[in-house]
Parts: sequence; structure tokens; C-alpha cells
Amino acid sequence: MKKETICIQGGYKPGNAEPRQVPIVQSTTFKFDTCEFMGKLFNLEAAGYFYTRLSNPTNDYVAKKITELEGGVAGMLTSSGQAANFFAVFNLCNAGDHLISTSAIYGGTFNLFAVTLKKMGIETTFIPPYSDEDTIRKAIRPNTKLIFGETIANPSLDVFDFEKFVKVAHEAGIPVIVDNTFPTPINCRPIEFGVDIVTHSTTKYLDGHGVGVGGAIVDSGKFDWMAHKDKFPGLTTPDDSYHGLVYAEAFGKEGAFITKATAQLMRDLGSIQSPQNAFYLNLGIESLHVRIPAHCKNAQKVAEYLEKSDKVKSIKYPGLKSFEHHDLIEKYLPNGTCGVISFDLNGGREAAEKFMKTLKLIAIETHVADARSCCLAPSITTHRQLTDEQLVAAGVSAGMVRLSVGIENGDDLLEDVKNALDSI
Ligand SMILES: *Cc1c(COP(=O)(O)O)cnc(C)c1O
Repeated sequence: MKKETICIQGGYKPGNAEPRQVPIVQSTTFKFDTCEFMGKLFNLEAAGYFYTRLSNPTNDYVAKKITELEGGVAGMLTSSGQAANFFAVFNLCNAGDHLISTSAIYGGTFNLFAVTLKKMGIETTFIPPYSDEDTIRKAIRPNTKLIFGETIANPSLDVFDFEKFVKVAHEAGIPVIVDNTFPTPINCRPIEFGVDIVTHSTTKYLDGHGVGVGGAIVDSGKFDWMAHKDKFPGLTTPDDSYHGLVYAEAFGKEGAFITKATAQLMRDLGSIQSPQNAFYLNLGIESLHVRIPAHCKNAQKVAEYLEKSDKVKSIKYPGLKSFEHHDLIEKYLPNGTCGVISFDLNGGREAAEKFMKTLKLIAIETHVADARSCCLAPSITTHRQLTDEQLVAAGVSAGMVRLSVGIENGDDLLEDVKNALDSI
């Protein structure tokens, strides 16, 4: 099926006289005829539902749709994008392990890696997003378990050079995890470029209506854990909490990663998405293929206008020809990028505040990738905990405005931006 059809019909296939729309299974628990069957479920010997903290049919339908869209083989929903990235990484790393991440990532993910994972004994080396092969290779240690990046980084909008990172990672026998929140599978499918595991904050474009916080993890099923047995003991040696089950043996390359993340991490850490939110998420995805091109079209229009304005010091939008790494956009995202623009106004923080105050349609929000246009200044909101040096490394300047262009009428948005620029 093509992406448009998957958006509408993927994941859920109703049988005869069953609900046409994905049913919301609003039940914490499930009923069994025999103890014997329930025991099999608990031993992971049979597939089925027993408690919604581990899995729920509504969530599974929606996870399957996202998995099909990304071209993966297994997937799961989480309560947030933060939970998705944490689970994806923690599924491979133990205390004493190390990972490599590009420095151009979401502020929340940066905190997760630099502060919280560090407290758990997992160390992260941050490298610049456009590092050459040698720099990446030199950052790899014997205990390095993965390389992490964002397809298009939030908010720096830097683009991830899949082939380069994948090549070096696979040479070293480690997988690449990519957060594909900004382009969504409509504009980019990282698995096609060799990425092993894809994550999402579904809170953003996948939902698209500002309705529910959520996340997703999709496994390509291609990484051969058993070929690197010593590196990934969590997947390749017995799990005592399941009577010595070995995930990579019992579920193969295709099933090991997501089964472990569900049966072990979700069981112990509990970050399930509510079935009600999964239902809303599914409604959002039904129009993803219509919304994403509309976001890109409006953003292109606004970006081209901003680029010409003398009030604007610099602008970054991956869809602009002037984008520094346009070659990578042509290679990986030829059909469009995202609806997010970042720009620096002459006059720094003060000008940014005046601009935002004057806007009428475009609202000030800690959000992006919504049908409604919104904006914020990262240095005073999402990234305020970073030092000036870390801000620079994350590609954020003090007077930067991040504008998430929605799918209102493009001329109305231009008018709003024009008025706000004139007010400076
Ligand atoms: C928002 C965001 C996250 C965090 O997702 P939440 O759903 O807010 O927890 C992670 N990565 C990226 C790229 C994001 O934009």
C-alpha cells in the first residue's frame, strides 16, 4: 500500500460486521477462561492481552499503522516522545554503557541524555551534526551501543546525513536510532536509508491537532543482535524476569527489540499511551498525507518572504535553496521537509519579543507541528536550561524565533508575519 492508503486504512482491518473505525478498548484488564492460558501469556509463550500497561488492542492498531508508514516490522506506542526516546535507548544501554548523539537535538532529549541518563551511569558523547566519518569513528568506544540523531532537528532544523552515520555505525556493529518527528514518514522514511530504529513524538505532526501527548518506536527488524552478541546482552542473553527467555532467539531480529521494550521496560517503567489518546492519534494520522504537504507549502511561502525582509538577520528553513545543506535535502527529503522555520531578527531578543507580541493569528506556544500556526523563542523557553555554549552547539541563538507554520490560508499567515515585522 502507498502512504496515503496506509494513513487511512493501515493498522486495523475489521472483520465481518466489526466496527469500521478503530475501537477504543477502554479496559485496563482482560478476562480469561483458564489459568493455563493466562500463564502462557505471562511467559510470553502466547500472544494476547492481559493488562493495558503492557499492551492494548487500540494502541496496537495505531502502532501498526505507524510501523507500516515507516516501513518497519514492529512498533509500539509510548506515553510521550520523551518516553519513546528513553525506551529506545534504554532498551540497549545499561549502566556503564555509552552512546553517541548529534548535538542538534530536541532540548528535552538533550537533557535526557546529558543529565538523566548520566545519573543512571550511561554516558553520551555529543558530536556536531555534520561531523565527518573520522569524527564519528573516533567517538566510538568499546562500550558504545548506538548512534542517535534527528532527521530534521528540533529546533535547529539541521538535517541528519543518514548514509554517513549508518555506514560508520554498522562498521562498528552498532545500530542507528533516528527521531523522525519533524518530517514524518510522509516526507522521509529513515529505514530506507539504513536506519535501524525510528522514534516519534506523536504529539507533533502525527497527531497534528494539539490533542494528545504521545510517542512511538518502530523497529526496522534489520539489525542482527545475535551477530553482536556480547554488545547487547539484554537481547542476547537470558532475561531472569522471564524464566531465562532470550529475546533475540525467541523472537528473532524482527521481534526482539519491541518485545523486550514492551515486556520488560513497559512492564517495569510503565509509560503506556492511553487507548483514548491512541484513538485521537489515529484520527490525526488519517489526514497526515494531506496536512504535511499543506504545512510545507505554507512554510515555503512564509520562509521566502522572511528571507527577503531586511528585519531578518538570518533564516533557516530546510526547504530554501539557500539552506546550507541543501544537497542532503535533495538526497533524503526531495518531496518536502516540515512546516517549521527558524530565524534570527535584527535586534535580538527584544525584536523577537516585539514580533511575537504583535502577531494575531500565530500564537505564542510551547508547541510545534500543529494545524494552528504558533511560535516561540527557544532561548527563553524550551532551551533556557542550556548554557550559552550548549545553545550554540544545539544550533540556537539568543534572538531566534521558531515559527511552526500551520495549515491556515497562506496569505492570511503572510499578512500576520508582515504586520509583526513592520512593528519592529
Ligand atoms: C517534542 C519532541 C520530543 C519530545 O516529545 P514529547 O511528546 O513532548 O514528550 C522529542 N523529539 C522531538 C524531535 C520533538 O520535537
